[in-house]
Amino acid sequence: MAAHAAQFVDCHGPGPDPRLFFSPGRVNLFGGHLDYNGGPVMPTAIDRGTFIAARSRSDRLLRMASAYDPQVVEVDLDQLPATRVSKWVDYPLGVIVELAAQVAGPGSALPGGLDILYGGDLPIGSGLSSSASICVGTALMLDSLWGLELSNLDRVRVALRAERHFVGVQCGIMDPYAIGCAREGHLLWLDCKDESIEYLPIDGTQLSILVTNTGVQRALAASEFNRRVDQCAQAFDTLRSSSPEATCLRDIPLDVFESMRGSMDPVLADRAEHVIHEVRRTFEAREHLLAGNPGGMGECMTQTHESLRSLYQVSCPELDLLVETAAGCPGAFGARLTGAGFGGCTVTLVRRGEERDVQASLEARFEGEFGRRPQVEVFEGDPGPREITSA
Ligand code: ADP
Ligand code: MG
Repeated sequence: MAAHAAQFVDCHGPGPDPRLFFSPGRVNLFGGHLDYNGGPVMPTAIDRGTFIAARSRSDRLLRMASAYDPQVVEVDLDQLPATRVSKWVDYPLGVIVELAAQVAGPGSALPGGLDILYGGDLPIGSGLSSSASICVGTALMLDSLWGLELSNLDRVRVALRAERHFVGVQCGIMDPYAIGCAREGHLLWLDCKDESIEYLPIDGTQLSILVTNTGVQRALAASEFNRRVDQCAQAFDTLRSSSPEATCLRDIPLDVFESMRGSMDPVLADRAEHVIHEVRRTFEAREHLLAGNPGGMGECMTQTHESLRSLYQVSCPELDLLVETAAGCPGAFGARLTGAGFGGCTVTLVRRGEERDVQASLEARFEGEFGRRPQVEVFEGDPGPREITSA
């Protein structure tokens, strides 16, 4: 954070010290591709995330830069763009545009200009939700500097609208909730049908969360992700005719699905089959967590991965090899791809103290197969977005 504050001065020039904010990333352990199907998910925030340094200006300009692209983007607060500009800046800009529409209200202007620098220590575009991290962090930063007095849920919802409406990804609600509603030492149980949340303790003295980055760029991720969302909507349209009470794919009973499978488009049926079993599996994983049974939790993760690979078709050979290797490691309980898939990271549930052995196995198998080392790291939990008072 001290280095980030120094970089802020290099970028925006000397003046009063900027205020500093941290917003974590997240890793999802249970409930793969369920959030936009109304199902339950169990993510947790991690101790890596987005750094934000920001300082008020005396004019009405927003000057935004990122450590990943230090070219300053300048926007007039009174002439905010109506559509995205297809750059990283769409994420924070989306938050500002949504805030202008929803919070400031018609006729009332947003407060004054800002110099902003983004950075962080979270891999970007790897399934650890740097996008929701930057959006929720931006909402907190604006709330603090502009004195908007938003609630935590206001910030989560504005971040979600930014990514959905302004950036244009049909994402579910999990990522901003996982970050904005984080509680250290807990998995968040988020029921995406009614948006209710519960905090389920995870025993960090017994369990480690190991994340392995394949380094595979998720080139088709955005378009393929939106395709999965559409396919699930189509599958639900077919299945709801036999289940009039259902409001989302999560509600379709297994026997209804099984009786209609034969008459459905086979691809849509595969997508629905994943979702319906994944809902059941997520409730099962919750029981294992509450019963202190990490072996059962790990088995659910590995089954989830197999379903995401074969039925949902969002995996790749690099992810599959890591999950298969983890399944054979004595210190690992189970593994799956995390995030949307198509590349990015796996998450492995490991017995605390066995991280090095598991890491060595993952690195050796991966290097033997693909000729390079994956990045393997243990992530601790995080209490959620906050202002950092000393750099
Ligand atoms: P993920 O959310 O899994 O990291 P996404 O593709 O959803 O992957 O979002 C990644 C995008 O978020 C990046 O391409 C970039 O545009 C934006 N982003 C996230 N964090 C930052 C940051 N600190 N600086 C600039 N852009 C960022
Ligand atoms: Mg994202």
